[in-house]
Amino acid sequence: MVNNTSVFQMSPVMATYSRFPITLVKGKGSYIWDDQGNQFLDFTSGIATCNLGHVPEAVKEKLEKQLQNLWHCSNLYEIPNQQELAALLVENSCGDQVFFCNSGAEANEAAIKLARRYANNVKGSGSSEVVTFQQSFHGRTLATLSATGQEKIQQGFYPLMPGFRYLPFNDIDGLDELITIKPAAVLLELVQGEGGVIPANPKWVEKLAQICKDNEILLMVDEIQTGIGRTGTLFAYEQYAIEPDVISIAKGLGSGFPIGAIIAKEEAAKGFEPGTHGSTFGGNPLATAAGQATITYILESNLIDHVKEVSAYLDLQLQSLKEKYPFIKEIRGKGLLKGVVVETEALKIVKKALKNNLLILTAGQNVVRILPPLTVTNEEINEFKVKLDKTFQSIEKGE
Ligand SMILES: *Cc1c(COP(=O)(O)O)cnc(C)c1O
Repeated sequence: MVNNTSVFQMSPVMATYSRFPITLVKGKGSYIWDDQGNQFLDFTSGIATCNLGHVPEAVKEKLEKQLQNLWHCSNLYEIPNQQELAALLVENSCGDQVFFCNSGAEANEAAIKLARRYANNVKGSGSSEVVTFQQSFHGRTLATLSATGQEKIQQGFYPLMPGFRYLPFNDIDGLDELITIKPAAVLLELVQGEGGVIPANPKWVEKLAQICKDNEILLMVDEIQTGIGRTGTLFAYEQYAIEPDVISIAKGLGSGFPIGAIIAKEEAAKGFEPGTHGSTFGGNPLATAAGQATITYILESNLIDHVKEVSAYLDLQLQSLKEKYPFIKEIRGKGLLKGVVVETEALKIVKKALKNNLLILTAGQNVVRILPPLTVTNEEINEFKVKLDKTFQSIEKGE
């Protein structure tokens, strides 16, 4: 920047986010601290990313060890951590092979590319379209925002990428249109996260999976927010009677270290051959060290059982608040992905909670989204309830 004579202090960072007025500098477990030394209870987990809490020991140790040896090498060579993490993901899902990338959007990009190439080069006939659902969120790249069923995400970025169609979410009769479209794939969230914490109806999902099976349509689930133990199983699809052909994951996979992946069944994975897709950083030794340590910790510590226990406790606390405040319409979600549907503006509640040293999120206009780390304790949930109760009290008083 040369000779800035502006009287305004312009941030050197582009304004893609409207940020809350705190600067976070340190984290441990369920807590995070700002640069003034104030402590906050963090029930956002970096948006479902720090699933083991902040700076988890097991991942830190593995990363520190990897830092001593090798940071990066190209995917033109074998990477042991990548092999190990892929094996862990395959052993613990219905999939057979993994492709690594660096983010959620990139994982969905890979899923969309795989679906198109499978349709064009393996099946060799039929549509290469991908069907997604209204209110969905699949990412911010051009292909994934085109896949996203929300106009506010697409606004101003026209022309969208062709090849996507949107059907109504949870609409059983609406699924019949799939038989006419016969797309290459469907892509769905089993709990719509950004769209308002809306769980998919099991009957609807079962019919969807059956139509996919009968019509050779790939069933692809976006588990970027719901995966890695968040909903009370390692992947949310395990709570439905389905076996997806492709699973996209990211957020919680690296405990905060950037990593994304798709896990595909053997048949779908035939869509990619050497040279058809790639990523410089995808699955690099550091990222896959974080992923390997994260998944290993979840499995070895029986963290999934812990999630089932604490999420039931969290449910009870949220229900008791619902009985107290008439402006709370509904509590919904799965496991530790919870939405509190309110009659007032959700953002107002989130801002008020911040004043009570509690970090929570919105999911659209009228839903408060709650995403504690999977390691959260009942004591921390008690503390959360006190802080949220105080927040709701001032909302009720119109403060
Ligand atoms: C966050 C998210 C994405 C995008 O992930 P990025 O890492 O931000 O690209 C995609 N799908 C879902 C369901 C998400 O929650």
